Amino acid sequence: MIRQAKGKTPRRPPPKKTSNNQKDPVGVYCRARPLGADDEECCIEVISNTTIQLHAPDGLKANRNGEFKETQYSFKKVFGIKTTQRELFEDVAKPLVEDLIHCKNGLLFTYGVTGSGKTHTMTGSPGLGGLLPRSLDMIFNSIGPYQAKRYVFKPDDKNGMEVQNQVDALLDRQKRDSQSTVPKTPTTRRIDPEFADMISPEDACRADGVDEDSSYSVFVSYIEIYNNYIYDLLEETPFDPIKPKPPQSKILREDQNHNMYVAGCTEVEVKSTEEAFEVFWRGQKKRRIANTQLNRESSRSHSVFIVKLAQAPLDADGDNVLQDKNQVNVSQLCLVDLAGSERTSRTRAEGSRLREAGNINQSLMTLRTCIEVLRENQMCGTNKMVPYRDSKVTHLFKNYFDGEGKVRMVVCVNPKADDYEETLLVMRFAEMTQEVEVARPVDRPICGFTAGRRQRNQAFKDELTRRLEERGGPVDGEFPTILNQLLQSFPPLPPCELSGPNDDVTLPRLIEALEKRHRVRQMMIEEYNKTANMLKSVLQEQDGNIVSKENFIHEQRGKLGEKDKMIQNQKNEIDRLEKKSKMLEYKIDILQKTTNIYEEDKRSLQHELESREQRLQREMSEKRRMESRMQGIVTDAKLKWEKECERRVNAKQLEMQNKLWVKDEKLKQLKAIVTEGKTENRQPQRPSREKDKVPPKRSASPSPAPSPYNGSQSSLSSLEPIYNFSQTVRPDPHFLRQGSVSVASCISEWEQGVPQSRRQGSQSPPDSRKRAQGLPDSLSRRRGRCWAREVPVQPADVDLEETDHWTAPPVRPLHRRSHSAGGERWVDHKPTSNVDLDTVLQLNLPNAIKVNAPNEKALSKCDKYVLTHQELASDGEIQTKLIKGEVFRTRGGGQAVQFTDIETLKQENPVVASSRKRRSSESGQDGEPMEGDWTDVETRCSVALEMRAGSNLGPGYQHHGYTKRRKP
Ligand code: ADP
Ligand code: MG
Repeated sequence: MIRQAKGKTPRRPPPKKTSNNQKDPVGVYCRARPLGADDEECCIEVISNTTIQLHAPDGLKANRNGEFKETQYSFKKVFGIKTTQRELFEDVAKPLVEDLIHCKNGLLFTYGVTGSGKTHTMTGSPGLGGLLPRSLDMIFNSIGPYQAKRYVFKPDDKNGMEVQNQVDALLDRQKRDSQSTVPKTPTTRRIDPEFADMISPEDACRADGVDEDSSYSVFVSYIEIYNNYIYDLLEETPFDPIKPKPPQSKILREDQNHNMYVAGCTEVEVKSTEEAFEVFWRGQKKRRIANTQLNRESSRSHSVFIVKLAQAPLDADGDNVLQDKNQVNVSQLCLVDLAGSERTSRTRAEGSRLREAGNINQSLMTLRTCIEVLRENQMCGTNKMVPYRDSKVTHLFKNYFDGEGKVRMVVCVNPKADDYEETLLVMRFAEMTQEVEVARPVDRPICGFTAGRRQRNQAFKDELTRRLEERGGPVDGEFPTILNQLLQSFPPLPPCELSGPNDDVTLPRLIEALEKRHRVRQMMIEEYNKTANMLKSVLQEQDGNIVSKENFIHEQRGKLGEKDKMIQNQKNEIDRLEKKSKMLEYKIDILQKTTNIYEEDKRSLQHELESREQRLQREMSEKRRMESRMQGIVTDAKLKWEKECERRVNAKQLEMQNKLWVKDEKLKQLKAIVTEGKTENRQPQRPSREKDKVPPKRSASPSPAPSPYNGSQSSLSSLEPIYNFSQTVRPDPHFLRQGSVSVASCISEWEQGVPQSRRQGSQSPPDSRKRAQGLPDSLSRRRGRCWAREVPVQPADVDLEETDHWTAPPVRPLHRRSHSAGGERWVDHKPTSNVDLDTVLQLNLPNAIKVNAPNEKALSKCDKYVLTHQELASDGEIQTKLIKGEVFRTRGGGQAVQFTDIETLKQENPVVASSRKRRSSESGQDGEPMEGDWTDVETRCSVALEMRAGSNLGPGYQHHGYTKRRKP
């Protein structure tokens, strides 16, 4: 029974992205070819089986200042130079072929720079068959026994597939056989040597799980896209050697299912690998011829080899292909050898060739852009228009990206340094491409027939043949056993022999029997039909059950996939968290260590703080002790000084009383002179008060500060009141004054009072002389003590004796000077603060040891000492004092200086001096008794200072006397 099912291509449900949310990224593989020549520089390195590294060639590095650094690219898999064609096929194309057989579409393209091995990878060469011949071989190895007879499947012109009835198919076959050009059987055909031995028999592989209850047919098309035109490489064009017709370009169309196809493209049904090779080779040859004729470069065209696999279930008998177009499934695998990725500059093209190159690049650029936009849409959730239509290549494969399918790309790399820059671009594009995801094709539901039909049918046929053979074939008139048994169950036929022409019995009886039989048969048929129907419905029910079960399983699988994805996500999350926790642990560790260090620091600092506090405490207590001690000392000193002050006040009081007494006396004398006139005895009586007078010996105030006498200016200045006058120190203290009384007051006193008394007692030695003679008892005694003294007396112990004034004999300083210029050794003490006065009279001591400060060493070598002391006189002139003394060796081993003489050298303004003289002469003219230059006579004093060199003590004794002032 031949049935014909002709109709329109079933509208496959348009691909819904929502129905199939499972997506796979575009699988990108990288293959590196070996270097062409050994001396070429290599710019790539396969780091691992997923990573490849690019090194900038030396020339580039130098030119671009390290702009090109080493870059790594990761792919699903990287194949090194030693990878065989078979290994590559196993990884890259085999899954696509399996998918094809299971009704899923696939797209595989090679991409790379010209010469990088795209064609080698896709097509290969004899003995080294590429992905294309291997894929074809695998397809035929898998579906070989289940292929439908030629022309059973017939492509319509709208990218669909029809199932022809057997008569039409038979007629088409006969038509084909009659064409002499096509050899009858492909197996006996001569194979093109260029494609011979592409695949060795041991490399043969086949897909598992091929549906045996289906019938298959393979169709191939081969097109070339050049300069954005599509050419059919399998189109049969009558060859006209005189006027060759240029190939006509094809256009793209969209079918009912929105799939793109090349309208009017030849689809050749092939039944074996060899035949398929043959067809491919035909197309290849045509391509070469066209390229030569039109002067094109094949590397600039994209070649697309499309393998379509049509499959339809067998009918219920398992005998013929089900004549139901809805049950026909067509899947396709596109094998694309893209044009070389080249920059226009490298193509060395000019004019129209440049435009071609530009177009080639344009199509690759469009591919690039499409991938970029797709990626952006998928990653950012945007809905930008993908410019598929901008080039034929992208337009043709649009459905793979916005529909479903499996897309794989092999990036071919030539390691040579010349290609570096282009390879870099290729790598970037390839790496980006694997971020694009394509919807995973779903499994097609199988038709509602029982599985294993083909086998059952085959088994039945086999059994029948076997039995027939057993019987030696069917004998005429003899029915097969089954039919016999069937016939025996019918009512027996009555004897059919007619007794005569008028036999009315036999025929009606026969008719009746036959009618009976007919009824039985009718009944049997009915029963059979009933049973068959019942069985059919049961089977259909079972099939429905199975389908629903399978759908359920499918659903569950989907869910399982989702769950798997979830688990994977959670695993990833766990991994991430674990990494994070490890990181945190590491951080904690570091922090712990830091804390330990800080604590250590803290401890040591605390320790230091404690020790410092203790030290502070100690110092504080020390300070307190010191304070209390100082307070003690201060109170002691205070007490002492209070006592001292009291004592001095008393002394002052006494002195004042004394003065008062002297004045009284003078007053009395004056009074006596005035009242009594000239009297013989005007000598003042020794005042009765003299008895009450405080003894002359009194304690003088020491220099206020007990600073050591070390020749410093400050210590000398403390002696200033003592050296106020030009003095010649005499060994005998003829005239003594209180040390602490100011010299100026003494002068005024004497200028006022003494001349009178002297005038009065000038001829006769005053009473004071007696007194002076009497006094020296104690004084000489004291002086003797002083000379013998070894230990300097504390300033507080210095005694001062006052004597009456007396007229000292005129001093002869020249004598002194000549004496001082004698052979004795001098210590010439000149404080550094002295000013050089540049006067005529200068101290000149031969043999003297000059010192700035007295020291024991100098003193020990000398026996005379002189201190040159300068000070400001009351008239503003600088007066120089030469304080002389004798050096004694003390019993304690030290030196003591006894001051014996003070010479005052003073510069005077002549005008002032003459006026003074005039004044004095005037006063003399007034009748005042004149005693030489008494008025000019300055206080002379003799000072004896005893000191121990280097001792802290001040001068021991101070003797004051008047001496004649030497004029400068
Ligand atoms: P493309 O098609 O990319 O321009 P081809 O495939 O034509 O490059 O390769 C150029 C040359 O390099 C050919 O001679 C080819 O035999 C050789 N070749 C390419 N890849 C390999 C490989 N993996 N192993 C050996 N030779 C290769
Ligand atoms: Mg090529």
